[in-house]
This record gives sequence, C-alpha cells and structure tokens, in this order.
Amino acid sequence: MSAADLPIREAITRIRPYRPGKPLQEVEREYGITGAVKLASNENPLGPSPRAVAAMQEAARDVAFYPEDSCFYLKRDLAEHLSLPEENLILGNGSDEILHCAGLSFLSPGDNTVMAHPSFVMYETDTLVCDAEPRKVPLTDYTHDLDAMLERVDARTRLFFVCNPNNPTGTYVTRAEIERVMDRLPDSCLLVLDEAYYEYVDAPDYPQSLDYVREGRRLIVLRTFSKIYALAGLRVGYGMARPDIVQALHQVRPPFNVNSLAQVAAQASLADPEQVTRSREVNRQGRDTLTRELERRGMRAVPTQANFIYIDTARDARRLGEELLCRGVIVRVGDWIFGDPTFIRVTIGTPEQNERFIEALDKAIREIPPYEEPLAKAS
Ligand SMILES: *Cc1c(COP(=O)(O)O)cnc(C)c1O
Repeated sequence: MSAADLPIREAITRIRPYRPGKPLQEVEREYGITGAVKLASNENPLGPSPRAVAAMQEAARDVAFYPEDSCFYLKRDLAEHLSLPEENLILGNGSDEILHCAGLSFLSPGDNTVMAHPSFVMYETDTLVCDAEPRKVPLTDYTHDLDAMLERVDARTRLFFVCNPNNPTGTYVTRAEIERVMDRLPDSCLLVLDEAYYEYVDAPDYPQSLDYVREGRRLIVLRTFSKIYALAGLRVGYGMARPDIVQALHQVRPPFNVNSLAQVAAQASLADPEQVTRSREVNRQGRDTLTRELERRGMRAVPTQANFIYIDTARDARRLGEELLCRGVIVRVGDWIFGDPTFIRVTIGTPEQNERFIEALDKAIREIPPYEEPLAKAS
C-alpha cells in the first residue's frame, strides 16, 4: 500500500523527520571498528549518578505496576530543589513531551509560532503537527535575533520559542534581552524558554527564569534530566509555568507519561549534587581545551554556554562528518539540519574523548580540500 492510499493529514507530510545521531553499535558494525565515541547528541560522558542507578535497580522489581501518574515524589523533591510550588511544575517524557503538549494546548490550525533558525528542530515539528505555521528567523552572529523575531509576531502568534543556550550554536540571550521580549509580546502569545542546558551555563547575565514563573508571567520554562543528569535514555524532563498554563498542558498529557524507573532515577539524581558539579567541571575544562585546539587549527568555535561546540571547519561538513565517522568519532553535521554547510556540532566529552576527536579531526581534514562557497547557494 502506498502513502497515497492513506488518509494522512496534509500537515503531517510537511514534517521533516527527526534524524537522531547514529548509535555507537551501528557505527562500529558498519565500519568494522571498536571503541567508537559518540559526540553527536549532547549526552553526558560521565554517566548518571550511581545513586540513580541503584534506585532503578531497586525499582526494577516493581515494573509490573503502572508508574505514579502524578510523579508525586519526584514532583515534591523537584519543587523543593527549585524552591517552586508544585502547582508550577509538570513532568514529561523528556522535555520534548512538554514541548509537544504546548503545541497541542495552544496551537490551532492557522496559528503561528516564532523561532530562531538554526535552533532545536522540535519547535518546528510540534508546530507543523498542529497545522500551524512555523516562522523561522535566522540567527545573527549565531545568536537569536530577538528584534527580528518580535517583528514576525502577529495576532495569530501563540508560541515564541527561545532556546537558551541555543542548540546547535551554544550562544545565550541575557536577562535584559529576555525581559524585553516578555514586555513586548502580546498577551495572546506565550514565551517558551527552553533551558535544556541550564546547569552548564556560567554567564553571570543569564536570566533567572524561575523568578518570571513566580511573578506569574506568561511563559513556560523547560528543563531536563537528559543532559547534565545523564538520564537521556530514561526520558524525563519538566516544565515550569503559572498554574493555569500547567493545567492546560496537563489536559493533553498522556497518562503515566513518566515511567517508574525514570521517576526514581531523577529523584535520586537530585540528591546527588556532586554528580552535577563534577559534570560541569569536566565540561568547562573540555570546552577550554577544545576551543584552544580548534583555534590552533584555524577553525572558529562559537563561544558556548552548553556542553557542545558549534565549529566552522571551513570544509564540506558532510564529507568531514563521514571521515570522522570512519575513524570512530560521531558528530553532528550542520549541513542538512542547520543549513550551515561547513559546520559541525560536537559534544564536549571526557579529556580522552576530546583528544580522540582532535586526532580524528587532524586526519580527516587532510582528506578534504577547503570549502569553496558554491555559486548558487542552496536554500
Ligand atoms: C536535548 C534537548 C531537549 C530535549 O530534551 P529531552 O528532555 O531529552 O526531551 C530539549 N531542548 C533542547 C534544546 C535540547 O537540546
């Protein structure tokens, strides 16, 4: 049966499928190598807290039962951790699910959303799913062009996405800039502040977005246990917003959306601040080392506040990605997702992994001539 025979919604056909980074085992199998490293999906190379692993082992005995639908204990601990009332919190199957719920709750056909480009691809997907129009505004100097984004807001704009720090570039917007956006957005539009990399940030003028939630402003803040807490495989993230916004998100949330192992692991992770401190420290050192090594090779690394670096390799990034892949290093290639043909996004790894990446990079660039701008640039 061909797709033409199916009653597929027209809106769905416009969605570009999400292409995840290749799993390690697949790369090792394809290239007949071992010991490959994956620096493609911004996962934490140090892994989760041992307390989280122990909690999961304990909870594994009870997987015959459905999980706690309200995430009762996790929500209680998270509320305490954040000093935020529980009514401001919603847990999701990854923060991705909260994004999806935001689309379902706030977007009707014919509405639109505003986002930066390149930025996190799910904003566009979740908009298209709802038959709404994604308005993508190019970054300026790798950073959100908030004025240009505000200009695209009209009476049908419901969600205004700011990815802070931005994936894939690692840049951030300041407290003053976010406050200006909130002051200028009409009441018919919510700000969605995606802070998936919040715990890695060290810029002093980064916004304290929980204050805005406490003040009852019209925004949703998203954070996750996938990145610094190293629980990406479990799928658990959360949203913070005014109680009426949280209620709207709950309306479309599937029951039992956060599984029981994820709930206990997230709870145990909150009780292990050591793991976060260590991860942040390793990331900072890795960031400095990689930036220095790249500069030495004449490659521009965009200054990052996250656990990845966006790098202009001055080469055809797709070919470079292939050359790295066959040397057992998996990175994200800018070309098709980001529209930057010479860029790669590399997750900051352990010192050994970073070294491995640089070694592979040195070999790979010898295989590829410097990139020349094509006469007619594909849009
Ligand atoms: C990784 C990531 C997420 C998704 O996180 P999950 O909680 O694993 O769904 C959301 N936003 C951005 C910008 C990310 O990079």
